[in-house]
Amino acid sequence: MTITSIFRKEVLAMSAYKVADATGLIKLDAMENPYSWPEDIKTDWLETLKDCPLNRYPDPEARQLTATIKHLNQIPDQFDVLLGNGSDEIIQLLLMALPASACVLAPDPGFVMYKQLSLCLGLNYQGIPLLADSFDLDMPAMLAAIEKYQPSVIFLAYPNNPTGNLFSEASIRDIIKTAKGLVVIDEAYAPFADASFISSLGQYDNLLVMRTVSKLGLAGLRLGYIAGTPDTIEQLHKVRLPYNINSLTQITADFALSNKALFDQQTQQICAERSVVFNRLNTLNGITVYPSSANFILFKTPENRANDIFASIKQQGVLIKNLSAQGGLLADCLRVTIGKPEENTAFITALTKCLGAP
Ligand code: PMP
Repeated sequence: MTITSIFRKEVLAMSAYKVADATGLIKLDAMENPYSWPEDIKTDWLETLKDCPLNRYPDPEARQLTATIKHLNQIPDQFDVLLGNGSDEIIQLLLMALPASACVLAPDPGFVMYKQLSLCLGLNYQGIPLLADSFDLDMPAMLAAIEKYQPSVIFLAYPNNPTGNLFSEASIRDIIKTAKGLVVIDEAYAPFADASFISSLGQYDNLLVMRTVSKLGLAGLRLGYIAGTPDTIEQLHKVRLPYNINSLTQITADFALSNKALFDQQTQQICAERSVVFNRLNTLNGITVYPSSANFILFKTPENRANDIFASIKQQGVLIKNLSAQGGLLADCLRVTIGKPEENTAFITALTKCLGAP
C-alpha cells in the first residue's frame, strides 16, 4: 500500500492548517476577545450546565439556540438559519454540496479557509486581487471573473480578514445582483463594525449572511450560523452531520447570548483600544498601518523585515500573525489582534524595540 494511492491528489497536495503554539506568550494572533466573564456570571453558567443530559444526544436542530440567534440578530421569520461547528464548518458544508467542477470565487487576500476547503474538495477556486491602495473590491476584475467563471458561490468577508476593511457596500450590491450563484457575506467581525447585510436578506434570493460567536468572545464554543432562504438552507441541512452542535455548546451559547450586554461592553472596549493601537502604530517610523473595522489591525513593515520583526516580537513574549509569506498584497505584512490595554502596550513596546528607538 502507498499513501498516494489511497488519498485524493488534492488532499496529498495540501498542508494542514497550522496554529502556532502560544504557551507562555501574550496571544494576539487569532482575533479572540481577551476578556473572560465576571465570577457571578460564571457561577450562573455552571448552574445551567449542571442539568445538561450528557447521556443523550443533543437536539439535532438546536431549536432553542436557533430561536435565540434569530431573535438577537433580527433575522426575519421567512429566513432559515443553520448552525455550524464554527463558521468554518458552514463554509465546508456549503462547498461539499456543490457539483464537482464548481467555481468558488473570493477576493484575495481573504479568509484562507475559502481557498483551503475549496482546493481540498477539488473545486475551481478563483482569488481575485483587491485594489492595492485601498484593499477595496476591484469591480472590473470581479465582474469580469463572475462573467467568465460563473461561480456557484462567492465569499465576501465584511469586514475582510486579513485586511480589516469593509468593502464598498454599493460594489457588494452590484456583485449580488450580477452573480447567478450564491453570495455569502461573511460577517465574522460584525461586532466591531457598524455594518451588516442581514436587513438586506429580503432583497436578494441568492444572498446568505454568515456570522460566528467566536470574535464576540466565545471562540472556544465553536458556533457559527448562516441565514438565507429556506430553499438554500434546506440543502445545507442535508449535508450537515445530525448532531453538529454539541449539548454543552447549545446550552452555553444560549446562556451567554442572554448576557449579551456583557459582550457588547467588551466589544466597545476592544474598539476603543483599536483606535489607541492604530494611533500608536501610525507614529512608528517605517510602519504603514491600515484602517480596520474589525478586532485586528494589518500593518506593513519595512521591506523584507516582516520575518525578523515577527520573530523578535515573539522573542519578547508577544505572539502576532506573520502574513508576509503569502506574498502579493500581504508581502511584508503582519497582523495584530486587539487585546487588553496592557497586552497592546507590550506589543507596541516590542515592535518599537525592533524598529530602533524613535
Ligand atoms: N470567517 C472569517 C472572515 C474569519 O476570519 C474566521 C476566523 N478567523 C471565520 C470565518 C471562522 O470563524 P469560526 O470558525 O471561529 O466561526
